[in-house]
Amino acid sequence: MSGLSIENISMRFDLPNGTSVQALKDVSLHLQEGELMSVLGPSGCGKTTLLNILAGFLAPTEGQIVMNGHTVTGPDAERGMVFQQGALFEWMSVRDNVSFGPRMKGQSASQYQQDVDHLLDVVGLQEFKEKAIYELSGGMQQRVALARCLANDPDVILMDEPLGALDALTREKMQSLVLKLWKETGKTIILITHSVEEALLLGERLIVMAPRPGRIHKEYRLPFADL
Ligand code: ADP
Ligand code: ADP
Repeated sequence: MSGLSIENISMRFDLPNGTSVQALKDVSLHLQEGELMSVLGPSGCGKTTLLNILAGFLAPTEGQIVMNGHTVTGPDAERGMVFQQGALFEWMSVRDNVSFGPRMKGQSASQYQQDVDHLLDVVGLQEFKEKAIYELSGGMQQRVALARCLANDPDVILMDEPLGALDALTREKMQSLVLKLWKETGKTIILITHSVEEALLLGERLIVMAPRPGRIHKEYRLPFADL
């Protein structure tokens, strides 16, 4: 089956003092290719844990993630993560950050240059490509993070509060950019947010999670605002 399935995922963290935290309990859902889903819920309800399991960074205590018919056993290029902040190489240029994935795959500059240039246009950073990350504003850094993720051409983009640290205006611009990218690329996007407003704006599908233990409380399908 194509798409991404979360099948009966439970996650328990065993702590050194002998107690444990049940972070997720029996979470199941299926995402079709090209769906945009936002995940909303209070701090501690297991959103980041779920995203880390989806990315393959964490192995669930029970259940499995099935991507296009095969079980996910670790991170791979099919699923790309856009972190909240701080995951870029601060001392490297914008261009080198965006081309990092292709270079790691052994591509030469002539192979990735056109793609990287295109992505820099898409996120509006062409004229900043020689700048180092630490010279950029928070919003620009998030655009680099998006472009770096897209450079790996993942089928699924996982976003952990990517806009949480931005000011209101920058955040609005980034929301439009995420929607535009989604419409243009047809990628599956899962976006975690603390903001009800953002979830309503960006989620074609919206999952609301409840804590202790983290589980799906409600699911909504939303009409789309045209930005
Ligand atoms: P969020 O910003 O999503 O609310 P937190 O700031 O609570 O997340 O936690 C960030 C990360 O720190 C989590 O994704 C998890 O990996 C780790 N973490 C959170 N709580 C604990 C804990 N009790 N023990 C160890 N690591 C934790
Ligand atoms: P959210 O992203 O919704 O804030 P998290 O997924 O970060 O929630 O955390 C869910 C619960 O699991 C919290 O109670 C948190 O403290 C706990 N937790 C997360 N990561 C760890 C970890 N590595 N070790 C122990 N507890 C953790």
